[in-house]
Amino acid sequence: MKVIVFFVAIIILGAEWQCNGSEHEHEHGHSYQIFPLRMKTGPGGHYIPEVSCKSWRLGVEAHNVIDWRTIPQDCEGYIGNYMLGHQYRSDSKTVCREAYFYAKTINITAKTTWVFDVDETTLSNLPYFADHGFGVELYNATAFNEWVDLGEAPALPESLKLYNKLLSLGIKIVFITGRPLYQQAVTATNLKLAGYYKWEKLITKDTDKYNGKTAVTYKSTERQKLEENGYNIIGNIGDQWSDILGTNTGLRTFKLPDPMYYIS
Ligand SMILES: [Mg+2]
Repeated sequence: MKVIVFFVAIIILGAEWQCNGSEHEHEHGHSYQIFPLRMKTGPGGHYIPEVSCKSWRLGVEAHNVIDWRTIPQDCEGYIGNYMLGHQYRSDSKTVCREAYFYAKTINITAKTTWVFDVDETTLSNLPYFADHGFGVELYNATAFNEWVDLGEAPALPESLKLYNKLLSLGIKIVFITGRPLYQQAVTATNLKLAGYYKWEKLITKDTDKYNGKTAVTYKSTERQKLEENGYNIIGNIGDQWSDILGTNTGLRTFKLPDPMYYIS
């Protein structure tokens, strides 16, 4: 009997050792297999939730995924890491650098104009969204407006750098924001606090006039008015596709990343 127990113990221990051994080997990449067409797996066949969140983010940025109201529940951690980490800043930097390289090629006149959006373009609401699940919570106008009314939003550093470079080239700056008229003063104060010290115009939304209209309609109409007044929009930058679609979009448009919310 003792002999049988001994042999059973040896077999169990042996199996466990083999298991650990193969896992160990796996970690160090000796026995990786490739699963090229299997979703949500890495090179070793492990489940990697980020794969689908990355695809979702790409879909959002390419404007294939539209009209969404919240980010997928599973992607809160992924989007949070993206927004607070190096990648968001790096992606923003790439956009702003390209914008500047392009602006340098333009012959500047007194009416040469660049349009900036405000939220998630010139100013960052990350302190707010970090407290509200990075877009996993349904948009709460009351809570968001309370945050905006504080006037404490920091600059998106890459956009501030672009802004300064465009000014040094002699380009006029116009802000067009979906923020309502009543937030004009706090927005102006906040922009200055964040380092945006001058501009040609700061256009906020007349919510009576544009009641029920999309951001595309509102922003197109305001850009059209600018061009009718002789402003030549050579560039237009925003975090939403609705900032850069429609009419009078500008000679070139630049899309900053924003996987947290969607405005049509
Ligand atoms: Mg925006």
